[in-house]
Amino acid sequence: MQGPVANRRVLCYPGGMNASLPRFRLIGMPTDRNSSFERGAAAGPAAIREALWSERGNAAAECGLEIGEDFLLDDAGDLPLAETESDDAAMRDAVAGALADGTIPLSLGGDHAVTFPQIEAVAAHHGPVDILHIDAHPDLYDDFAGNPRSHASPFARIMERGLAQRLVQVGIRTLNRHCRAQAERFGVEIIDMRSFSPERVPLMERATYISIDLDGIDPAYAPGVAHPEPGGLSVREVLATLDRVRGPIVGADLVELNPARDNNQVTAILAAKLVREVAARAVRNGRSGAA
Ligand code: MN
Ligand code: MN
Repeated sequence: MQGPVANRRVLCYPGGMNASLPRFRLIGMPTDRNSSFERGAAAGPAAIREALWSERGNAAAECGLEIGEDFLLDDAGDLPLAETESDDAAMRDAVAGALADGTIPLSLGGDHAVTFPQIEAVAAHHGPVDILHIDAHPDLYDDFAGNPRSHASPFARIMERGLAQRLVQVGIRTLNRHCRAQAERFGVEIIDMRSFSPERVPLMERATYISIDLDGIDPAYAPGVAHPEPGGLSVREVLATLDRVRGPIVGADLVELNPARDNNQVTAILAAKLVREVAARAVRNGRSGAA
């Protein structure tokens, strides 16, 4: 039977269609290895995929660009992670492979620790990039509960290795003394949630990687996260923030969906929308200067 779901999957898989269209590689990273407190993010990729390919929605981003018509999403499935140290190399290699193949990696977490090996691969390919990081939390802990690879620490690891030229954080509303000192040490640009407006987010004109922790969005819109923090971004504000990226988008991740805490899949559906919206902006911005 040739139903609409089957049609869309054909459109989104590699091999057919217009080979000249921009291509994204969707990489699932189902891990909780570096979660703190509550686990469940490992189930995120499956929930996002289900929402992304569901007939509840369609393939269009708000600007009108469509999956399958204007860009392709090659779904590479989930990485076979073992919840061991070797997982970092697997994530690094997957992103390096996507870049080597001329696709833009779009990964689905997993806990936020997955961003570090991905940025290692992106920086190895492009050199240090600019990062737009949306989150309730700065994730700058030198270590969290003794774990330097904690999901509360990826941006400390990235910055101390010089893998980013610029780190812009949006949605932050949990800054403690330690993380404030870390932000000063690394020169992080924090757009505090208390004073947020889209115009305060700097225009990002160079090659940019986008990391979206779903808890950056208000729990009213995104309840399916392990660490909900009231007072966050609206969906519209997240989209306006993404519009501040004007340079080539060299990769992105969507992390920390915890389906066990979700409510009628609203957070998974939001994550699927953000896949389309980030990809459409990457197409719109083009690739000049990305390498
Ligand atoms: Mn967070
Ligand atoms: Mn985070």
